[in-house]
Amino acid sequence: MMPTPRLLLEEKQTASNRTPRHINRNLIFNQIRTRQPISRADLARTSGLQRSTVSLIVEELLKERWVVEGTVGSIPRGRRPTFLGVNRRRTVLAVDVHPSQITLAVADLSGQISAESQLVLPSDPRKVIRTIIDGICKTIAAHPGLSFVGIGMNLPGRFSHRLKKTIFAPNVEWPIGQIKSRVESATGLPVEVDNVANACALSEVWFGYSDEARDIVVVNVSEGIGTGIFANGRLLRGAGDGAGEFGHVQVEPKGLPCGCGSCGCWETVASNRAAIRYYQEITGTRAPSFDAILQLADAGDPAALEAISRMCKALGRGMHMIVSALAPSEIVVVGELTHLWPLAFPIISAELRRFPLIGIPRLRMASEPDTARLRSAVALVMNDKSL
Ligand SMILES: [Zn+2]
Repeated sequence: MMPTPRLLLEEKQTASNRTPRHINRNLIFNQIRTRQPISRADLARTSGLQRSTVSLIVEELLKERWVVEGTVGSIPRGRRPTFLGVNRRRTVLAVDVHPSQITLAVADLSGQISAESQLVLPSDPRKVIRTIIDGICKTIAAHPGLSFVGIGMNLPGRFSHRLKKTIFAPNVEWPIGQIKSRVESATGLPVEVDNVANACALSEVWFGYSDEARDIVVVNVSEGIGTGIFANGRLLRGAGDGAGEFGHVQVEPKGLPCGCGSCGCWETVASNRAAIRYYQEITGTRAPSFDAILQLADAGDPAALEAISRMCKALGRGMHMIVSALAPSEIVVVGELTHLWPLAFPIISAELRRFPLIGIPRLRMASEPDTARLRSAVALVMNDKSL
């Protein structure tokens, strides 16, 4: 028997937590964001929605000040259309948190970044959260003309939405657990936090680079490795919000100790830190940073190229495990490694395909990779606004 439309609708709601109304609002807002300035008539054309539906949603978005009416367009004849654009005075404070530094950015709702600064965190763990809060407050104070919708923070760890605190962050030595509540009480603004890979997965879908009907896995390669899984129309969080820790699956039983307490985890062989170690093993000298290795590799330095190659092979091997487990249609890589994507891609891809798989996903780097992490913090806040 065919299910009734009502059942279908309910199924859709459970699958993605989003009603058709939300999906249409998101669609219209994304059209305005990516095609602004745009008229209502063009919105109807590009979205494929009825003109009346478009008008209704636009009125709602105008009333809620997500979008604004701007210049009047000129067409050869007929009524001159008023163009729509996102409200640039409504902004998100994006905070990209790494274990030892943070990046703060002011971004509009379209993910355009207007100010960006970095802050090195103090070595005294007791002073870190205070330093982050000071940085946030200074950034807000420096932009008195803007209205901040909220603060989006992505974290190098897992955040439990039930416990409202960070529950797993093996590479962080300061008390990251209470960061959401402390920033909220210091600023009075809503603070959305999540694991950086989760945030990036959400962002690929929210900003429309990945179709939400597709299953994607974001692999964030940084000091460690985290993955964000978007499947069946929503983030897969698992019990206690702990899903996605492929970085801590043991791939070498006799491998090096990992911050999580195990040894030979995937991130010990495939992260930026692993590449730094490979470089040291090859040359006997320590590279100052992962960026330095990237620059050397870009200039053709054989030791740096070898270090990057070992890292990429280890990445490919781990991705084989991810594809075997989840069969996503896309794997999206986020991280500094994307600066050398033309070099990294063939090595990762070859390793991923070395042994049989039922299906090979599309492997790509994040769209606009340099700002992917910051834009993901915007997506965290905006996703919560049901746009
Ligand atoms: Zn580990």
